[in-house]
Amino acid sequence: MRLIIDAHEDIAWNILTFGRDPTRSVAETRTREAATPIPQQQGDTLLGYPDYVRGGVAVVLATLHVTPLRRKLHEWETVTYATQADAYRLARAQADAYHRLAEDHAGKFQLVTDQATLDEVLETWSGDPPAAPRIGLVMTIEGADCVQEPQELPDWFAAGVRVVGPAWSGTRYCGGTREPGPLTPDGLRLLQIMDDLGMMLDVSHMAEQAYCEALDRFSGTIIASHSNARALLDGSPVPDRHLGDAMIRRLVERDGVIGVVPYNRFLKGGWLPEDGRAVVTLEHVIWQIDHICQLAGDAQHTGLGSDFDGGFGLNQIPAGLDSIADLRFIGESLARSGYQPTDVDAILSGNWLRMLRQGLPE
Ligand SMILES: [Zn+2]
Repeated sequence: MRLIIDAHEDIAWNILTFGRDPTRSVAETRTREAATPIPQQQGDTLLGYPDYVRGGVAVVLATLHVTPLRRKLHEWETVTYATQADAYRLARAQADAYHRLAEDHAGKFQLVTDQATLDEVLETWSGDPPAAPRIGLVMTIEGADCVQEPQELPDWFAAGVRVVGPAWSGTRYCGGTREPGPLTPDGLRLLQIMDDLGMMLDVSHMAEQAYCEALDRFSGTIIASHSNARALLDGSPVPDRHLGDAMIRRLVERDGVIGVVPYNRFLKGGWLPEDGRAVVTLEHVIWQIDHICQLAGDAQHTGLGSDFDGGFGLNQIPAGLDSIADLRFIGESLARSGYQPTDVDAILSGNWLRMLRQGLPE
């Protein structure tokens, strides 16, 4: 079975916000939620254990994400913080949710914190079909205000976090989406301690200035877990959420990997849900992947970072995809576009696996 690694999903945020249970199938969750406001709020779910298995999605970078109150858009958003103490509490609750998921459903989910646990998860996918596959979860902070001061980072490492994205919007550590700015003095200390601990850096959402500074300063493994190329997104209302070509080239120089997001607003500039799903297709996803491959000169620096259920659902993903099980169709489209099987494998899993082999502790 061709495996997939997905570099960005807000699974715990969904557990806390909507009470979703990722062990259920997509179909079951959709049925249960049909009479609730959830489909109107964020859309029909895209995530569920049986669907990960069907799609061969073996490893996920699973976020601890909290939203600053100043960026709250909807009444139903509850995982929001006014203070760093709030951010800490809400992110710890998400780390606890992942630990509970892995303990209560040990046959389905497993935390990946080092090379041995990564090997254990991958081993469960051998066999065709695999007998009892487990989804490996690599805990990733998205927006580091939950880290109340840089010196607290070892506690997060001890809790299992292996990747830190300092920004979402701006944080005390750096400028972020819609909030330009540099790394702050605390941001520089955060990167230093991440380097000391051997944590990976996720530069998605970092403002361009902070991004460039971080690429100069950080010596460890660097990824952009969920970012698309700005060059293909004329008309986007948030151009600074996407990566300019110079930013992509610099990440490639650092041997980083960029997770392309199959989210219609990040595939067609100015797209709105009322435009309908049909106008955005897998071709748009392939164009993004291909743009990065052309800049890099190879297929070693792009992967997938679906962000599925991260504030959007079924009605905002390309026609041709129905759930996480369908990410494999992106591989089939790449093959039809002329990508060699080895390159398709690299994009679906190999490049992220290289980052994890390099960035996770022994
Ligand atoms: Zn994000």
